[in-house]
Amino acid sequence: MNELNIDDLRGQDFDIYKGKSVTVMGFVCNKGKTEIFAKEIIFECPECSNKMRMQQTSDVIQKPKQCSCGRRGYFPIREIIKIDMGTFYITNPFSDTPRKIKVVVSGDGVTPLIWNEIRVGKKILVEGLLDLDLDKKHLKPYLRTEKVEIKGELSEEDKMNIIEKYVTNNFSITLDNLYQDMSDRCLIYPDIMSILEQLHRLRKIAYLPQLKQFIVLTKFDTNQIENNKQDKSKN
Ligand SMILES: [Zn+2]
Repeated sequence: MNELNIDDLRGQDFDIYKGKSVTVMGFVCNKGKTEIFAKEIIFECPECSNKMRMQQTSDVIQKPKQCSCGRRGYFPIREIIKIDMGTFYITNPFSDTPRKIKVVVSGDGVTPLIWNEIRVGKKILVEGLLDLDLDKKHLKPYLRTEKVEIKGELSEEDKMNIIEKYVTNNFSITLDNLYQDMSDRCLIYPDIMSILEQLHRLRKIAYLPQLKQFIVLTKFDTNQIENNKQDKSKN
């Protein structure tokens, strides 16, 4: 089995693994919803009752142009073969520059039993096919799969490590940036708040309400900050 790393994916991999089954391990950072799509539509010719099966691969409904009897025009729909599809994104939250990859899941993967277990922070093994969205020049990779396996979830310690690492890689952090960057690393608002409180209690960070910013105390001389505070209170 070809096991791929999200952060290491490069353009050539799409040629190498085209049509081959790959596995990717990642943590859920964003979950979409399930939707029902037409996979195939069967049209019937009103002239000769011939049935025409049309595969539906794009957003635009593919209709028959002409029946084998020669008739053209409107053909009524007889049957729609439906497919349920759900989407979510996985990432490696421990990466310095985490990259997201979309997973499009159908079949067994969208049965309520499995779908409801897919939540932000869950560790998931996806086995499927690598593909690219061709809408724009910027090609976005995604995985098509019917098989997802839940392998665990981010522990409290993992979450703490992710935020602490992020915090120590920066001098000062605004709340907005922090929320955005942490949601890309599979952390949700209550996680972030409780970990910030812990870091604050451990005196690793300090919150500056005027600036709506956190500063990282390990990077500064703590006395200097105290002096700054006093300077400000004098003004
Ligand atoms: Zn016909």
